[in-house]
Amino acid sequence: MQASTYLLQSIPVDELTGAIAVPIYQTSTFVQEAPGVNKGYDYARSGNPTRRALEDLLAKLEYGHSGYAFASGLAAIDAVVKLLSAGDQIVAIDDLYGGAFRLFEQVYRRFGIDIVYVDTANPAEVAAALTERTKLVWLESPSNPTLKVSDIQAIADVAHAHGALLCVDNTFASPVLQQPIRLGADIVVHSATKYLGGHSDLIAGAVVAATAELGQQLKFIQNASGGILAPFDCFLVIRGLETLALRVERHCSTALKVARYLQTRPEVAAVYYPGLETHPNHAIAKKQQRSGFGGIVALVLKDDTQEAATRVVTSTQYFKLAESLGGAKSLLCHPATMTHKSTPVAQRRAAGVADSLIRLSVGLEDADDLIEDLGRALDALTAAKAETEVELEAEAQLA
Ligand SMILES: *Cc1c(COP(=O)(O)O)cnc(C)c1O
Repeated sequence: MQASTYLLQSIPVDELTGAIAVPIYQTSTFVQEAPGVNKGYDYARSGNPTRRALEDLLAKLEYGHSGYAFASGLAAIDAVVKLLSAGDQIVAIDDLYGGAFRLFEQVYRRFGIDIVYVDTANPAEVAAALTERTKLVWLESPSNPTLKVSDIQAIADVAHAHGALLCVDNTFASPVLQQPIRLGADIVVHSATKYLGGHSDLIAGAVVAATAELGQQLKFIQNASGGILAPFDCFLVIRGLETLALRVERHCSTALKVARYLQTRPEVAAVYYPGLETHPNHAIAKKQQRSGFGGIVALVLKDDTQEAATRVVTSTQYFKLAESLGGAKSLLCHPATMTHKSTPVAQRRAAGVADSLIRLSVGLEDADDLIEDLGRALDALTAAKAETEVELEAEAQLA
């Protein structure tokens, strides 16, 4: 069965009425026949049928045991970290999503959790960082925003040999391209705000556990901490998932065209896209991302300044300047001043997030139109540079 069929077949028909769309159970509580005698639901923080439909679907898509829907991607990440205790250690990818970095450093470090960051594209670095205290290895693959790809299977083996769990943030690849649990991961998280929802109209998060035991612990944390996703938003994510396979296919094919185009532009110093043969992790991306390389492309300008990047991101017409990614509409952002502004400058640069790095979320518009849009923005950069040179020359002559 192909991905699109599997996905659509996995969405349940309502047993009570036959409704083809999953009904929104907008209720806080469920009437009981006698104390503890109910139809499977008692209070909507603990369980809600609309959320249940989404959570079962997430588990199926990621080939896990059970899924859990949260109010945001960060709430999902937060729930996973709550599996740990004071004194435990996390070994995490060095170009971690900025919000996860902030949560780890400014919240969990205060609670006695230690975090070390390594270049996970090299599994040997992960192995070298693991200690007895390491309880969790945290990967994003491809990562945000430099599209670094890590060998999930190799790292799962290393983590398990040390008794640590492997959690993969699968937001960028989506379960259409990559199923980390099938590669050995214990937990998968998503910002469902991105590709799963797919329409830039909600904030949501997901956790999928590989085993019943982990599922039980995560379900306990979800209920105990209460960061659940509301029924209407669960409905929206399910609706988004109906077209996930189709959307991701198109995102991938357009992104590859955009990446190849950017490589031809003289203003561009580097293009990060795992689908390019020149990408350092292309071989492993090809192996573990079954049918494509995703919809995110990043570029660094030859004029590696925030000013040059600002000019480009304010010159496009179809690519809108906004944080977030994974929607139908193309977006672009400047991580140094936007998503990664809470990462210390030295650490940001060391992780490859250059001052002029621009991240593109390639949407569902026509590929040629998007290429034309980027072409015009890069032309604007050249024109501005020529203007400054003329001005500088005039000033020099006056002086
Ligand atoms: C956006 C994002 C998150 C955070 O998700 P929210 O839904 O914004 O809370 C986590 N990881 C990655 C890779 C993301 O892109």
